[in-house]
This record gives sequence, structure tokens and C-alpha cells, in this order.
Amino acid sequence: MLDSVRSRLTLWYTGVLALVLILFSVSVYGLLARQLYRRLEGGLYTTIEGTARLLTQERQEGESEREAAHSALTEQYFPHHAVAIFDEQEHLLAAHTPPGSVPARLLTPWQQASTRPLFFTATGKQATAKGAARVTVQRVVVVPPQTPYIIAVSQSLETVTAELALLRHIFAGTVPLALMVAGIGGWFLARTSLAPVVEMADSAQRISVENLAQRLPIANPRDELGQLAATFNALLARLEASFAQQRQFMADASHELRTPLAVMHTTADVTLQRPSREESEYREALAIIGQQTQRLTRLVVEMFTLAYADAGQRPLHLQAFYLDELLTETARAAQVLAARKNVAIVTALVPEALCYGDEELLRQMILNLLENAIKYTPPDGQVQMTLVRQNGQYRITVTDTGGGIPVDAQSHIFERFYRVDKARSRTAIGHGSGAGLGLAIARWIAHAHNGALTLAHSDATGSVFVAALPAPAFR
Ligand code: ADP
Repeated sequence: MLDSVRSRLTLWYTGVLALVLILFSVSVYGLLARQLYRRLEGGLYTTIEGTARLLTQERQEGESEREAAHSALTEQYFPHHAVAIFDEQEHLLAAHTPPGSVPARLLTPWQQASTRPLFFTATGKQATAKGAARVTVQRVVVVPPQTPYIIAVSQSLETVTAELALLRHIFAGTVPLALMVAGIGGWFLARTSLAPVVEMADSAQRISVENLAQRLPIANPRDELGQLAATFNALLARLEASFAQQRQFMADASHELRTPLAVMHTTADVTLQRPSREESEYREALAIIGQQTQRLTRLVVEMFTLAYADAGQRPLHLQAFYLDELLTETARAAQVLAARKNVAIVTALVPEALCYGDEELLRQMILNLLENAIKYTPPDGQVQMTLVRQNGQYRITVTDTGGGIPVDAQSHIFERFYRVDKARSRTAIGHGSGAGLGLAIARWIAHAHNGALTLAHSDATGSVFVAALPAPAFR
């Protein structure tokens, strides 16, 4: 039961309220008891004062010590107080005890010298609260003639104890009742406040990969629970987008894989249709199958690279090397491709460009850019590659004299599987056919190095791609 927030909230709430109520009751009870005793003692003291005044009067009128004591008692009316007057030797001179009251008496041993009033509680025959009385004793000296008296006044505590008992009963009845009402109220309040959480949990439980488009209900977007739901919904939106991207990737990938497989299948079927063929025909068929296998291999390697990059499992093997040397090597490797189309590769590179990065990945990035430049440049064209150091960055520029990229396609060329001329690329055979992953991989490599890859310019005269990489501070 304590595992539920609702129960814990209710228990805390009721517990704190119980503490407050108990503290309140004890304080009120204590204050009232003190007040009642004070009032009672004030009454007792007034009676002593009145009796002393009468004793003085009687003595001044010439009565004897004992007569004065009697007169002082008979001339007063004490409905609740029992009064006793003693001489200095503690012999009783006169006493008045209302019916049912505890007689006033002295405390033994009595401090003779004291003239200050002394208060104490005396119990009757049975030591019950009903028989108890509050007593005040004071030694007074009546002048003239100098006569010391000891006056004791007492009043039963019955009324006070009855009032306090009533208060105790009131508290004993109301505090548990208040706690019960507060507990039940608190339970319902907690249930109502937590209802949106339960609803959110139910909705969240129903959400799976199949229905990621579902969202949690937001009762009040301004309160804490509303904000929680909104945050959760934002998370769902990001997951949904990511899943959609993955699905698209899978769909595009299987589409791309299907074409070379179909070409290979058809080639084999057609070639084997006749029982025998010329050797040249077999060679041609095998050449087609070989090219398609090459294409497939490249596609699988590219997809593998991107899948690893997405999963964050392609760590960079960082090392120091000279970027200009890497660019020269890559240009030499691309030369084979360029020579077939009689495309010239011209380089202008800043020397000793010390760089810190993953050499293999950066080689692939440059190769992708150079291959594209050569691929989309007509025969006898030119591809230019420059390297400069600028504002703490290396800027690699690859410029071609190809036909350029259509304006509406320029913002998409870095997307996965995007190709400007889809039909041509997919059916084309050999080196001319890419799957549209080259630039996506190149851009990821630049980003992984805290750099950037952009298409700086493209029109009918050619395209310019710029890769920026952070350069080390020392040189
Ligand atoms: P692919 O492997 O098909 O070349 P990329 O991701 O490298 O895929 O390029 C995506 C698309 O961008 C290409 O299909 C092509 O249409 C266009 N493109 C890339 N580089 C150039 C370029 N230098 N000149 C013209 N078009 C280009």
C-alpha cells in the first residue's frame, strides 16, 4: 500500500495535520488550565484580603482576638470558599465551611515568618479530584493593636476539573474526527491530482513502434504534469522521426539492392536460355555480372559505413598527418578514372598542412568529391582541387566544369539515396552509377571532424564543393 504515491501523500498529510492538532490541543488545554487556576487563586486571595480588613476593623472596635475572628467570618458571605482563622500558635479561632466543601486547613510545617501567601492543593478524605481543593494560607498582622493571624481559605477544584475534563472530551472527540475527514479528503484529493499521471501511464503503455504517432493527453499544458506530458510527447516526436528515417533508409536500401540483383539474374537467365553460346557472349555476361557485383559491394560498404555512423559505433582513429599529401595521393588514385574521360585534375595545395584526424575517412571524403566531379564532368573537362589555410581552418575546394546541379535539387544532394537523375543512375552500368550515398557519407565525415561540407556554388559552368576542417593551432 505504501508503494502508491497516493497513500504516501495521504499519510504524510494526515500525519502532519495530527501533529498540528495535538500541539494545538495541548497548548489550548495548558493555557486554559493555567487561566482557571489563576482566576481561582485570585478569588482566594481576595477573600484573605477581605477577611484581614474585617479583622482590623473588629480589633479596632475593641473586640478580643477570638471575637474579632468570629465576627470577620459571620459578616462575610462566602458561597464557595471555606475559611479558617488561626492564632500565631496555629490554634483554630474560627472557621466557616460551606456544605460539601473541604475545610480550610494549614500546611504542616507552616513557615511562621512568611507573610507571603502560600498556595497548595489539598485532597479530601478520598484522594479524588472531586474532593480536592486549592488552598491559600497567609500570615497577616493586624495593626493596631499588633495581632498576628493566620488565615487559610480553600475552594473545591470540582468546577475547574469538570471544565478541563469537558475540554479533554471535546478534543478527544473532535481531533480523531478531523483527522478522519482530512484523511478521506486527502485521499480523494491525491487521487484526483494523480489521475492525469495514471491516464498518461495507460496511454504510454499503449504506444509501441506500430503507433508512434500517438501522443499523451495534456490536461493543462501550464502545470507540472502538463509539462511532463509535453516533454514526453516531444520525445515521441523525435523517436517517430528517427524511426521514419530508418524505415525510409531500409526501403531505399532494398530498392537499390534489387536493381543490380535483377540485372545479374536476367543476364544469367538470358545467357543460359540457349544450350551453347559463343565464348564472347559468356564473357560479356560475366563482365556484366562482375560490374553489378562491384556495384553491390560498394553499396553494401557505404550502407555499412552509414549504419555504423548512425549507431555512433564508428570511432575516429585520430592521428597526425599532412593533409596536402593525402590530397595528392587521392588525386593520383582518381587520375585513373579521369584519364578514361580525358579529364584533367589540377591541384593547388598549401604545403606541410599538418592535420589531426582519421586519415582513412578523410581519404574517402575527398575521393567521393573527386569521383563525383569527374563523373559529372564531360570529356576533356577539368577538375580543380585546392587547399588553403584560413582563419584556423583548412578549406578544401573541389571545382568541376560539369553541367551543374539543378537549383531545386541543390538542397537535397546531401540526403541519403538522393540522385538528381534517378532513372539514369540506377540503370547505368559501371562506374557511372552511384546509389546517392556518397555525399551523405562525405558530409558525415566532415561533421565527425567538427568540420563542414557544403556546395558553395553550382551552375551550367560547373560545381564547387567546399570542405572545411579545423586546423591545429601549431604550425
Ligand atoms: P552518387 O553516388 O549518385 O554520386 P552522391 O551522394 O555522391 O551520389 O551525389 C548525389 C547526387 O548529387 C548525384 O546523384 C548527382 O546528381 C549530384 N551531384 C553530386 N556531385 C555532383 C557534381 N560534381 N556535379 C553535378 N552533380 C553532382
